[in-house]
Amino acid sequence: MRTALLLAALAPLYAQNIGMDSHIDTAQRVLIDRADLTQRSPIGHVDIPRLKEGGVNAPFFALWVPTYYRGSEAIRRTLDLRDAMQRLFDTHPEQIALALTAADVERITKNGRIAAILTIEGGHQIDNDLAVLRMYQRLGIRAMTLTHFRNTEWADSSTDKPAHNGLTGFGKEVVKEMNRLGMIVDVSHVSDKTFFDTLAVSTKPVLASHSSCRALSDIPRNMTDEMLQALAKNGGVVGINFGEGFVSQKDADQLKADIAASTGERPSLTGKALDEYAAEEFRKDMKGGRPAFATLDDAAEQVDHAVKVAGIDHVGIGSDFDGITSPPKGLEDISKMPALKAALKKKGYSDEDLKKIFGLNTLRVLREVTGK
Ligand SMILES: [Zn+2]
Repeated sequence: MRTALLLAALAPLYAQNIGMDSHIDTAQRVLIDRADLTQRSPIGHVDIPRLKEGGVNAPFFALWVPTYYRGSEAIRRTLDLRDAMQRLFDTHPEQIALALTAADVERITKNGRIAAILTIEGGHQIDNDLAVLRMYQRLGIRAMTLTHFRNTEWADSSTDKPAHNGLTGFGKEVVKEMNRLGMIVDVSHVSDKTFFDTLAVSTKPVLASHSSCRALSDIPRNMTDEMLQALAKNGGVVGINFGEGFVSQKDADQLKADIAASTGERPSLTGKALDEYAAEEFRKDMKGGRPAFATLDDAAEQVDHAVKVAGIDHVGIGSDFDGITSPPKGLEDISKMPALKAALKKKGYSDEDLKKIFGLNTLRVLREVTGK
């Protein structure tokens, strides 16, 4: 009886001890380098030991496919990434498992395991076919970013020339189908018009999985205060991106140039040759760029601004680790997350506030969208 009472008293504590990050690009390392995430690595920003150190036990692994994978090639690449993640789940079930719902996240993390939520990053990965979207959902994918750096045939990207004035009729069908399937609609990367069109259609909260505030760092990938307010009204969450240009104005102009350069390249390769090209591009990115001006304090400012504009229930973390080249000083990898918590505590954030920002807000969106 006493044990039962004790367990009952502890249960809410377990439920609250959930650390989420709505965007990491570590699946690239798992596929391309066959990275063993159970071992601490000198390469990259994320592995299981560092996730544990950072208090992040439920990250969203993006199955990102570069937009130079076109048509069915993008679908093949998505399946390769999905398969690489499955190999990780199958080899280390005692350390990491696939989570399909918020209830899964609570169950898997309860005994110290990592709960992996899988997402796809770019509407081009469905190749204009809702059947492909539905099969991704059956494969356990629970979110999709509507575009990446380029427009799809049905949605404008924030880093491409507008072609559709936001979402097309088919784009609206995609959003509705995602609502019906219980997949989170991710509005990071999309143009401002696509964002507002999506909010007008979506009956569920949306997620900006890895974006920051344009008021502090003026790049099209970040969100204006007006967008943050609209996101809050929708019940959604913004996961603050730690990329140097996302958090610091000093780095932003360089990032703008990088984005312009990166949208230009479209090799006309397929199959193995295309995969080899992607591996080379990935290794170039992993070497890192010039050191960032951005610091841990800039990241804390970003979180604070988003909370002031959108409210404490609508801000999360979407670090973009393993997808950014020069992380802020003091926030070099995912193990440093407690330093960000400490910086926010200094600004007056309570433990309850921090639990929301570092996990419970994003968990709420997952629960509302998947229904469990
Ligand atoms: Zn991205």
